[in-house]
Amino acid sequence: MSECSEGVAEYVAKGEAMAAAAANRRAVMRTKKFDTIAVHGIYDMEAAAANQGSIIEPGYLSSAEHFENSDHMEAALAYLMPAWVYSRIANPTVHYLEETLALLEGYGFDGEVSALATSSGMSAVFMATNPFLEDPEPGMNIVVSARCYGGTFMLFGQRYGVERGVDVRWVRDPLDLNEWADKIDGNTRFLYGETPSNPSLSIMDIEAVAAIAHAADLPLMIDSTVATPALTRPLNLGADIVVHSTTKSMTSSGFAIGGAVIAKHNITTHIGPDAMRENFAMYVKLLPFRDHGPGISPFNALMTISDLRTLRHRMDTVSNSSMKVARSLESHDSVDRVAYPGLESMPGHEIAARNMWLVDGADDYGTDINRFGHLLAFEVKGGAVAARKVFDQFEMIWRATDLGRIKSVATIPAISTHQQQGDEGRDLAAVPSNLIRLNVGGEHPDDIIADLDRALAVLNARSVVSHSSA
Ligand SMILES: *Cc1c(COP(=O)(O)O)cnc(C)c1O
Repeated sequence: MSECSEGVAEYVAKGEAMAAAAANRRAVMRTKKFDTIAVHGIYDMEAAAANQGSIIEPGYLSSAEHFENSDHMEAALAYLMPAWVYSRIANPTVHYLEETLALLEGYGFDGEVSALATSSGMSAVFMATNPFLEDPEPGMNIVVSARCYGGTFMLFGQRYGVERGVDVRWVRDPLDLNEWADKIDGNTRFLYGETPSNPSLSIMDIEAVAAIAHAADLPLMIDSTVATPALTRPLNLGADIVVHSTTKSMTSSGFAIGGAVIAKHNITTHIGPDAMRENFAMYVKLLPFRDHGPGISPFNALMTISDLRTLRHRMDTVSNSSMKVARSLESHDSVDRVAYPGLESMPGHEIAARNMWLVDGADDYGTDINRFGHLLAFEVKGGAVAARKVFDQFEMIWRATDLGRIKSVATIPAISTHQQQGDEGRDLAAVPSNLIRLNVGGEHPDDIIADLDRALAVLNARSVVSHSSA
């Protein structure tokens, strides 16, 4: 510390009081129900008093924080007191979002949880995994589910595998516990899975894979984008780190790209410094994230906070509709197979039924109630050409590479989100060319089913025409 350490010490003491007040706010909110947390986060009356009385979290679009004097600046920049400094590192609005995310993902978890908001889901996946790849050594490997988002597949396979020489050990069937266990050795850095996965909706047993990871002193990371904390909270099931694309179901409006890394404290790992193990999200935020620079815009953070407030109710409604749409597709003559965690025909359905519950659902329904999210996928009879024909017929369901929206959206992953990984990669990730991924929105399910039925009818209509012209 500089020769002005007395002045700095004053700010350090001020900082301690600020940190204690924040810990108190967090402790108060941890006693509240999920909806209350989603609506208020840690923004309370005291915070409002410091913000012109605003009852809504203010959007601080400023790039930087002014300091009272050089002592204040030194204390803040040395991370000796809570401060936001510069919006690439931290920002008050982003802070409100991070605290809310930590409370929601940590709901019901008996321990401390911290969150880091990022500019996108992909930057969250990168920021969660890259710190474990420091000190490269020969044979360094990662054990990851092949049933994952296309961008994640490319990050691991190309950026880590091809460009940096990491041995990427794909788990072909994430339900197969032996596959996870057999791929681990002394040079493994982490285990990573996505459940339910995008776009195949594959299920994995988080509890069982976490036990395998921990037995080898390794962390388990879960991409929980599709489930959201309203339906599954992987930290409660033993996972160490959760990543999200908050762009998706967490928000729903489609106004902001964003992501999050949410971790419990004292994760299981033999990699990295003590600070990384003790509070992974904070370690990443203060060091690697600061240097890599994938901070979320405060405006996007504000959009995200605003959408999060209704998360539980939204997931309840759209899950309900999705079940109806999935059942309707399952009984359709032109559909080969429907992937939806709520269907009994889905591999791993019993695990999904064990882990996917509407949070606080008993308060609404008198009993705990399964909810399976609003992403499903179906294979059209007749292959890729037939799938494209059906896809081109949608009149209300949007054709876009997006999901989580309050508007129904469909894509053909083989020609969009999972195009870059090639035939071999798509085979590995279980993405057939006749697969249509459907995000069921908030429209009335009858209208969604009508659009699907009308689109699927194109296959019969065509065969009638070709018959008559033969
Ligand atoms: C979309 C998505 C991502 C990437 O998120 P972006 O916000 O688009 O960067 C990661 N994981 C899953 C499961 C996704 O659906």
